[in-house]
Amino acid sequence: MWNGLRSADFEVRGADQQLLHERASAVTRRVFGERVFVRAVVEVSNFCRENCHYCGMRRDNRELERSRLGHDELAEALIHHRPAAVTDVNIQAGEDPVAVRTVVLPLIHTLRRQTTLGISVCLGTLEPDTYAELRAAGASIYILKFETADEAGYARFRAPGTRSERLEHIRHLSATGWRVSSGFISGLPGQTPMDLLNNCQLARELPLDGASVSPFIAGEDIPLAGEASGDVETALNCMAMLRITNPRWVIPAVSALNLAQPGSGYIRGLRAGANLVTINLTPRALQRNYVLYKRDRFIMDEARVMDALAQAGLVPSSQSLADFYVQQKESQPDCCPVATPV
Ligand code: SAH
Ligand code: SF4
Repeated sequence: MWNGLRSADFEVRGADQQLLHERASAVTRRVFGERVFVRAVVEVSNFCRENCHYCGMRRDNRELERSRLGHDELAEALIHHRPAAVTDVNIQAGEDPVAVRTVVLPLIHTLRRQTTLGISVCLGTLEPDTYAELRAAGASIYILKFETADEAGYARFRAPGTRSERLEHIRHLSATGWRVSSGFISGLPGQTPMDLLNNCQLARELPLDGASVSPFIAGEDIPLAGEASGDVETALNCMAMLRITNPRWVIPAVSALNLAQPGSGYIRGLRAGANLVTINLTPRALQRNYVLYKRDRFIMDEARVMDALAQAGLVPSSQSLADFYVQQKESQPDCCPVATPV
């Protein structure tokens, strides 16, 4: 039934939707068993040189107090206060090359020296030399979403650079030794089921190791503030579609699922193909002002994440995501398409 994607499949509800999610969950269990990767995220800077219409951290948002965290504070949280289940860390920020140089690179060096944590980064579009420095320091997974496959929409929402530049960066990262996760926002204003189909197809064509879907959250102080937020059901259907068509991908349950559907969105993500959860370890000083979505954030702390895993009948993976990728590459050396550098 789900062999070829059809745009109408993104809109299914009721019994058909249940079937879709069960099918995605069965594929996930077949490939990954009951184990789910558990990473921590630290958000290190809310400065951003970009101006995306969907994001509260855009440079023109003057309502936001901007700050960068310090290396020592972050290292302390990650080395001495991380929950036992955490095997990886994702270091995230607005597009802020200063933070990359002064905070992120030193932090990666410290983590590499003092821990066995796998290291992911989500830092936006940077220079090729900077990607290489991050890789050499010890990060191995880059998260760079293409946001929307629709070229005109990409430009209209002022996503970073152009769509084709963003895709070139994704291909460059993959071709230079990174494991790459990308993805898109579902439910951006004006988006059609055909756009969602195009998003899933673009994701499949790129040299990816994982992908995420986040429902659009219409937060405060952004040009899209008056618009409706994305429908959580559609976002969950997109996740299920990605899982069924890409069984070996790592697909996160994103915290925006719980903003879109408080209490159950996240668990439903774990039942619709997700196999990665994220515990937020951002020190409180920045947590309040790191507003990708909206000021009233739903922080996924250790208790909430562990509770969601237990409710979904899943267990933390003892293997890190970074080690999983290394092992996968060794067992399937030809798994990834070769791409041309930027
Ligand atoms: N600045 C970097 C990384 C942080 S932003 C970058 O843009 O790549 C991480 C992601 O947050 C973005 O890729 C975007 O997909 C998502 N995001 C931002 N605002 C959002 C919103 N209002 N709703 C849903 N997702 C959003
Ligand atoms: Fe900056 Fe990323 Fe937000 Fe765009 S999505 S404004 S690049 S933080």
